[in-house]
Amino acid sequence: MRRVYIETYGCQMNVADSELVASILRRAGHPIVTTPEAAEVILLNTCAVREHAEERVIGRASQLSGLRAHTPNLTLGILGCMAQHLAESLPQRAPFVDLVMGPDSYRRLPQILAETSEETLLDVRLDREEDYLGIDPVRRQGVNAWVTIMRGCDKFCTFCIVPFVRGRERSVPADEILRQVRLLAAEGYQEVTLLGQTVNSYRHGEFEFGRLLRAVGQIEGLKRLRFTSPHPADFTPEVIAALAEVPVVCPGLHLPLQSGSDRQLELMRRGYTVAQYRALAAQLREAVPGLTLTTDLIAGFCGETEEEFQQTLDLVAELRFDAAFTFKYSPREGTHAHKKLADDLPEAVKTERLERLIALQERISWEINQGLIGTTVEVLVEGPSKRQNGNTPSFYGRTPQGKTVVFAQEAPTNTLVPVHLHRATSHTLFGELARV
Ligand code: SF4
Repeated sequence: MRRVYIETYGCQMNVADSELVASILRRAGHPIVTTPEAAEVILLNTCAVREHAEERVIGRASQLSGLRAHTPNLTLGILGCMAQHLAESLPQRAPFVDLVMGPDSYRRLPQILAETSEETLLDVRLDREEDYLGIDPVRRQGVNAWVTIMRGCDKFCTFCIVPFVRGRERSVPADEILRQVRLLAAEGYQEVTLLGQTVNSYRHGEFEFGRLLRAVGQIEGLKRLRFTSPHPADFTPEVIAALAEVPVVCPGLHLPLQSGSDRQLELMRRGYTVAQYRALAAQLREAVPGLTLTTDLIAGFCGETEEEFQQTLDLVAELRFDAAFTFKYSPREGTHAHKKLADDLPEAVKTERLERLIALQERISWEINQGLIGTTVEVLVEGPSKRQNGNTPSFYGRTPQGKTVVFAQEAPTNTLVPVHLHRATSHTLFGELARV
């Protein structure tokens, strides 16, 4: 049995997949260790969404291969989206890597680790059926547990590599999801986040996403239910009704917009118009009082004119998101945009647009958060904060809307406490425990 260290890059799906890999390997008898120096097998679970992330992983793998001086039988593997994306070229680009494995192949890891080979082992078959049923992830200590309810994506947005590296959409049976959440609630997790690439397109048998939310929402002990990321085109009246009516569903949604221009949205094949997105945001805000919305935005997609970019700024100003993840477009090999659309904006223009977008969003986030000063919010305590408040240790946690709150007094992790807010930045709220 060999000691395994897993390092994770990229999105929450990858964090959840690393928990799955840890479970598969532990079941096969391999202990999981927390430092690469202690390991005989090092697995990097990677992301392919951005090019610089790929370069970083290759650099890190090269650095880790130096540990062979101390551990001559070290196996170094690259897993996940980047393994899938660069399967052909990785053995040449990173000859120090022994194993390249895509996201649908993890069940075969114990068997592959038992094999010896001089060549790099490649296993990147995409499997339309694989949903890792029956495997309970080894979760890191925390107050929130992630539960993968669907894998893959059928949307094929023209800029996105995900459908190519994670395969087609498939949903986990509702029974299995309910079993996992019951188990988590029994273990003391009060907050669960349902995960999927387009989580609200979940469908398995008679269960669509709204019905699933209602069923999960009834599980005893669960206080907060989140999900990410929904796709704007997949909100049905049933889902919106469940958001409004299931008390534990948190009033904070991440709703990727990408652009405020209809022509750009069409070029991206996002499946909605600006008018439809605007109407959806209004409907959601009406259904769920106090709802916060966060989003994703791309600056400088193919052929984006200044006028189209201005439409994005205008829509951001109008919809007033609580926060946004903003990106400069960079093409990913294999996508439709890479093959068919010209990446024709100079880097300087993309950078300048990104900066304007960030400045606008920062101002809006700041204004919204200033409006919360003087209110008392419910915080699920996650632990000590790195921020010091004079000599007083600080603690932090999140509101139901998902905002980070830092407060001065000590409070036990995984408890719900009221915090009175007295200060705010664009990203963080500050306060003190309120007397009840
Ligand atoms: S919905 Fe679009 S952006 Fe999201 S994962 Fe699928 S293809 Fe990518």
